[in-house]
Amino acid sequence: MEKVILTGDRPTGKLHLGHFVGSLKRRVDLQNSGEFDRIFIMIADAQALTDNADNPEKIRQNIIEVALDYLSVGLDPEKSTIFIQSQVPQLCELAFYYMNLVTVQRLQRNPTVKSEIQMRGFSDSEDDETQNKKGIPVGFFTYPISQASDITAFKATVVPVGIDQAPMIEQTREIVHKFNAVYGDTLVMPTMQLPENSVCCRLPGTDGKAKMSKSLGNCIYLSDTTKEIKKKVNSMFTDPGHLQIDDPGKVEGNVVFTYLDAFCTDEHFAKYLPEYPNLDAMKEHYRRGGLGDGTCKKFLFNILEDILQPIRERRAYYEQNIPLVYEILEKGSEKAREVAASTLDDVRKAMKINYFDDKALIEEHTRKFKK
Ligand code: ATP
Ligand code: MG
Repeated sequence: MEKVILTGDRPTGKLHLGHFVGSLKRRVDLQNSGEFDRIFIMIADAQALTDNADNPEKIRQNIIEVALDYLSVGLDPEKSTIFIQSQVPQLCELAFYYMNLVTVQRLQRNPTVKSEIQMRGFSDSEDDETQNKKGIPVGFFTYPISQASDITAFKATVVPVGIDQAPMIEQTREIVHKFNAVYGDTLVMPTMQLPENSVCCRLPGTDGKAKMSKSLGNCIYLSDTTKEIKKKVNSMFTDPGHLQIDDPGKVEGNVVFTYLDAFCTDEHFAKYLPEYPNLDAMKEHYRRGGLGDGTCKKFLFNILEDILQPIRERRAYYEQNIPLVYEILEKGSEKAREVAASTLDDVRKAMKINYFDDKALIEEHTRKFKK
């Protein structure tokens, strides 16, 4: 069987370090491993509209930002098909059929949708809606189904994502199972691939509170300047009990250390902080007391700069070649349409709604009605 990747991001803002460790870095590694037959990377504008219906300009402006971020981290359009979701109408049709295989109750149990309803300030009570509070858009409520059509349309076998996507992949697997049971073996069962490092499954924001998320304004963006990175690292939440350098400090819940867990390697120590062999030794010193937040932040800043500098340089190149980026997206979308159309043909056939291709049906009805 072909090995296929499908994954993507919502164009609701520029991409950030959470995306990088949660999914982007893995995609680039998998792309360059040559292990996969096909890789599809989707800019999920239709999904972004499900909770931004009144702000189409925001989505329109961010498609190019996400595309620039993709190219700058090393996604290569020769190896990965980068496309825009709304340009593949077959995805809507698939979602429409899958809706019959999922119950309202099942969608209501989805923990990510539940927490996003809270985060986006949607009200889930009928009374609230009559009092003019924003209700839940049906499109938003059903986006896990639309995600199932994205994944299955490309016959994805592997979906590299952050942990917040686990319920979506589970929902997709249920739909595939149900579809194949009812209509015969047609869809490919996908598996989720989380980052190996558990910190990277859900990188917290610089405030240390929630996950780093475009919607929460707690991000370090891949396109941030050196100055911005410095400012954000310096204002990061650490251990409020660690007032003097000599005080013992906590590394748990200390965002600087969480980020070091996510980003630093022993080589970074050799390069920037040779007094420690590795992160364990550094943590031990911090816990004991005697290691200042300033030193830790400076170290983290150097590491992030090391990672982000080449990304920034590639971005600068593509920023000067915007028509080329749009061409990449247009070609990618064309290719994505072809693949999705072929899956849709299989689905229509399995569901017996391919009336005009079905010679046997026409013959059967010819016999049935012939006098
Ligand atoms: P929005 O707030 O609009 O939902 P987002 O920042 O959550 O934006 P998405 O486009 O929803 O970003 O997520 C794209 C991918 O990045 C998903 O695979 C998701 O799991 C992963 N991801 C997003 N934020 C993080 C994070 N903080 N840590 C790890 N992975 C993340
Ligand atoms: Mg999200």
